[in-house]
Amino acid sequence: MPILRPLALTLLIALQYPPPALDAPKRAAVPWLAPYRDAAGRLLGEALSSDAAWQRLAYLGDTFGHRLSGSPNLEAAIRWAVEEMKRDGLENVHVEPVKVPHWVRGRESLDILGAIPQPLTILGLGNSVGTPAGGVEGELLVVRSFEELDAARDRVKGRIVLFNVPFTSYGETVRFRALGPSRAGALGAAAMLVRAVGPAGLRTPHTGALAYTEGQPQIPAAAVAAEDAARLQRMQDRGTVVRLRLKMEARFLPDADSANVVGEIRGRELPDEVVVIGGHFDSWDVGTGSTDDGGGCIATWEALRLMKKLNLRPRRTVRVVLWTNEENGGRGGLAYRDQHLAELSRHVMMLESDGGVFAPTGFGFSGTEAGRAKVRDIATLLAGIHADTIGPNGGGADIGPSVQHAGIPAMSLEVEGNYFLIHHTPADTVDKIDPLDIARSSAAIAVMTYVIAEMPERLR
Ligand SMILES: [Zn+2]
Repeated sequence: MPILRPLALTLLIALQYPPPALDAPKRAAVPWLAPYRDAAGRLLGEALSSDAAWQRLAYLGDTFGHRLSGSPNLEAAIRWAVEEMKRDGLENVHVEPVKVPHWVRGRESLDILGAIPQPLTILGLGNSVGTPAGGVEGELLVVRSFEELDAARDRVKGRIVLFNVPFTSYGETVRFRALGPSRAGALGAAAMLVRAVGPAGLRTPHTGALAYTEGQPQIPAAAVAAEDAARLQRMQDRGTVVRLRLKMEARFLPDADSANVVGEIRGRELPDEVVVIGGHFDSWDVGTGSTDDGGGCIATWEALRLMKKLNLRPRRTVRVVLWTNEENGGRGGLAYRDQHLAELSRHVMMLESDGGVFAPTGFGFSGTEAGRAKVRDIATLLAGIHADTIGPNGGGADIGPSVQHAGIPAMSLEVEGNYFLIHHTPADTVDKIDPLDIARSSAAIAVMTYVIAEMPERLR
């Protein structure tokens, strides 16, 4: 049957190599972008052919460690960034002083008391008060919502309350960390615990700031790893009376000196019109803050380095800002607004990268529909690295005060990755970041920023 053999072979080949999908999206070239294609291609090529951004991020974390506000680590890292920006050839490199809160963690522990004490895995919440030196002891009360807490209001006094709420989304779950301490404190709880706000990891607690409500008692508060929260839940469900001792040395010292770091490429024709990009340089005091938010700082800074290296000086000024104190105060973003009030009306766009520098998918944008259409066009230049989607909301904690004050178009880098798995944990280290991903993130930011700063009409 010699004739069947070629037919079978043909079928086999056809099955293995299906023709390309006919309805693959067509990305028609946008005519008005023609003058920017060459620069965009060079920025992409330069970014993707080097691991400079990853190496710089690795150096930052390896050399200075974490960068909590008030720490000598942060201030040393700020001095380094200034010198490095100058070495890159950026212009108008300087610091803008900011007074920041100085919270320190100290030692901390949580034990199940009994004949054989059992240590649990915790991280105190940022800005929490500490306990007396001997710790706080109390009987455990586990609840799964604010409603359950209110229903148990007669049994809260003197207890250590645990909010055992599995992670859904950050916005949904973080309120138990932020507001739980005052909700429990108002009912007389001795201390508050929260199941770590993040997807289940490997017994990984996540720190993060709490927000005490004015006029309510301030009680010490800590995050417990998801596994430990589940264990305490099982013990309560079994009817076991669990006594706990929480010890925390956390306290505030007097406000400390810190600064936002600024570097620029001055505009060729309209230097007073400014496109601002950046991230927050401070981090929590666990891990090295490589994802939150060292990566955002380095990737935005890299965008300027790439322009400088390729001799691309856009029409308007491009400014990178590394804000201080996002995590436990937001003072850097507020100080930027106050120190730049007079020129905020000439801020063309502000972009913050604070969602990690994993595989970039595009940007979030908040602004007018006309602005969105422009940005969507520009994003077609990033189709080749799959970073061309424009989502509904752009912004960030540090650009927020300026953006709200002056109605400035706001953007954020959007990525796909395990941000909330490692965020605010000891696991936030540079090894979680792929050098190609931070290179692509830098490239996407560089192209978007360059075109907005270069195009003749202002983004509105
Ligand atoms: Zn952050």
